[in-house]
Amino acid sequence: MNLPEKLTSLKPYDPITGSYSVRLDANESYFDLPTVMKAKIADKLEQLDFNRYPAPLADGVINAFAKYYGVSPDCVTAGNGSDEIISILETCFLQKGRKLVTVSHDFSMYNFYAALTELETEVVPKKDNLQIDMDALIAACQDADAVMFSNPCNPTSLGITRADVKRLLENVSCLVILDEAYMDFWDESVLSWVNDYENLIVLRTCSKAIGLAAVRMGFAVANPKLTGLMRAAKSPYNCDSISQMIAETVLSEHSLLEHCRDEIIVQTQRLYTAISDLVRRYPALLDTVYAPRTNFVFIKTAYAKEIYEALAKEGIAVRCFPDGLRICAGTRREQELLLSALENILKPD
Ligand SMILES: *Cc1c(COP(=O)(O)O)cnc(C)c1O
Repeated sequence: MNLPEKLTSLKPYDPITGSYSVRLDANESYFDLPTVMKAKIADKLEQLDFNRYPAPLADGVINAFAKYYGVSPDCVTAGNGSDEIISILETCFLQKGRKLVTVSHDFSMYNFYAALTELETEVVPKKDNLQIDMDALIAACQDADAVMFSNPCNPTSLGITRADVKRLLENVSCLVILDEAYMDFWDESVLSWVNDYENLIVLRTCSKAIGLAAVRMGFAVANPKLTGLMRAAKSPYNCDSISQMIAETVLSEHSLLEHCRDEIIVQTQRLYTAISDLVRRYPALLDTVYAPRTNFVFIKTAYAKEIYEALAKEGIAVRCFPDGLRICAGTRREQELLLSALENILKPD
């Protein structure tokens, strides 16, 4: 049997498993659905025709998405999580040996699918302040077929403004794929620009602010021409009926969504303030924490692994990177547990 090296050299995605009493590692919403919403969903589940294939273009959920975000449904493609959309874009809109530009740090899945598609990738390093080096990015895009990055960024928690995105769009001709997975928590979205540019694709997800990571539903927003290509390239029944129904129901609850989003922003600011205080008091151990545009904070520290392991012993999961820790907002109680554990870990014996 002859299997390609691009397959055999793959390292499976390795999220934290095991039992933790506090999970602040995956940037999920800490709000589960209210009981009344769950009951509404259970009712709809009973009405569902389980023997029928799902709606191929997921029209119901796309209409609900379009209404919530103020875009036209003709500009929206639904995917099995934005992960699937990233995979479709890299495998169908790009081809082996052609160049994709990404930045570092950024979401690991961009380079994962690039390796599977055997793309040529140029990774543009971020500046010392962890912001995108826009001049270097524009230069790298000149001979590329696409550029893809998250805004605001996972894991840095930082973002670039619409003015910066505009500068990028006006200076490159390749496909520009902006992953706005966390843009509900900030206000620099370019969703409304998709009809002004022939080469802009914006990704959104139900997994973060919408609070439906369990459901696997993501979206690409682009002009109707690109949307037609994406709809043609995806597999016909990529989003199952149950996920479509749940996401449509939840995306129609605008005041619930806005309330949860606003609460998460407040909790993230509390977390940032408390961690800024730790950074001030333990400068030898913690370098910097950045003012977040997301539902998580990024702490730069040379002791990421040690702190991560000590927190894990306390049953608290955060995400560890070689040069820092990413910690997402939780309930008041979860954040209190995290902060007192951090204090104990950092304070001198
Ligand atoms: C969490 C996340 C997503 C969401 O992926 P889904 O497949 O929709 O759950 C996409 N992009 C980034 C940068 C993320 O952090």
